[in-house]
Amino acid sequence: MNLNILLLPGDGIGVEVTREAVKVLRQVASAFKHELTLSEGLLGGIAIQKTGVPFPDETRELALKTDATLLGAVGLPEFDNAPPEKRPERGLLGIRKALGVYANLRPVRSYKALINSSPLKNELVDGTDMIIVRELTGGLYYGTPRGISGSGAEERAVNTMIYTRPEIERVAHMAFQLAGKRRKKVTSVDKSNVLENSQLWRRVVTEIAARYPDVTLDHILVDNCAMQLVLQPRRFDVVLTENMFGDILSDEGAVLAGSIGMLPSASIGDKRPSGAWVGLYEPVHGSAPDIAGKNKANPLGAIGSVAALLEYSFGLTEEARAVYGAIENVLNAGRVTADLKPAGTPASTSEVGDAVCEALSAHAAIA
Ligand code: NAD
Repeated sequence: MNLNILLLPGDGIGVEVTREAVKVLRQVASAFKHELTLSEGLLGGIAIQKTGVPFPDETRELALKTDATLLGAVGLPEFDNAPPEKRPERGLLGIRKALGVYANLRPVRSYKALINSSPLKNELVDGTDMIIVRELTGGLYYGTPRGISGSGAEERAVNTMIYTRPEIERVAHMAFQLAGKRRKKVTSVDKSNVLENSQLWRRVVTEIAARYPDVTLDHILVDNCAMQLVLQPRRFDVVLTENMFGDILSDEGAVLAGSIGMLPSASIGDKRPSGAWVGLYEPVHGSAPDIAGKNKANPLGAIGSVAALLEYSFGLTEEARAVYGAIENVLNAGRVTADLKPAGTPASTSEVGDAVCEALSAHAAIA
């Protein structure tokens, strides 16, 4: 298969973890005999520095041409007080919208080797295995009218939470299809006791559920969901929710796994004529300016994003399984970065990347 992939390393540790993810991609391509076509573009702070905007047209064109995009992270402290259109994070919203990736998938699972790194008691977190499906291109983050107007006592701020039926339907289909391949349970999260927006969400999700009779659906209010995620995380299989609720809940999910550096994410849109699903893959973490440039960042979230890319965009489940297996191997061997608090000397970013590649080549030799 020809894997046509755009790399957007971005800023800070994004560059370091993407480097390791690419090592792993090359290893997979060679072990499983795929052809790899890689291109590279600018996004975020580095794009502002070089072109004046966070999401240059050239990057947009590259992203629209390739099957899948692998992103590191964006964000540089020098832009913290810049106006919104000159902030690196605007680049992220721009590329998500341009690619039409409307569903963000965040797998959250507890690894045996990391169980002590979780802030939760072992018996609570052990066996956790869920995917949070967050609607990504609608809701409060994109709705208009928006803005701040007036001054003094008259100053006011407005944001608009808006969802259309088709926006809810397509992400709900994605969640039910995923659940069909897992433990067959969707939990839809809303705030329907207060928001009309959520009332429509709940009604449409219930209608879509009728088309997936082998998947069970339950509904939960977002405040209760935030509580249940830490009280009984094992109860969740696929969690389906709108943009802002998903943003918040998925960070809560992130800590269940022990370190934010562990978590991959996949943002998926429609199918390309080539048969590949349009996808934007990135670790959940940001650019971590506090550890950038020190070869200390955990690259496993970025490497897990490679596995997700292989699985969701190209349907290469065996290759994805090999990458997840190699990650587990490296965790079991304790060859991990400082954030995972290993017993001995922590490994560097590049050492972890090398260890994953070694585990992959051992796997290929056995296979
Ligand atoms: P962050 O995720 O960058 O860092 C939070 C904490 O987690 C830091 O202490 C950091 O050292 C640690 N951390 C993060 N990733 C790690 C890894 N792979 N290995 C080890 N430790 C890791 O979040 P932040 O500090 O709130 O934001 C920093 C910048 O990143 C900001 O500019 C923010 O806007 C941006 N950001 C970007 C994204 C993205 O690109 N998707 C996401 C979140 C934040």
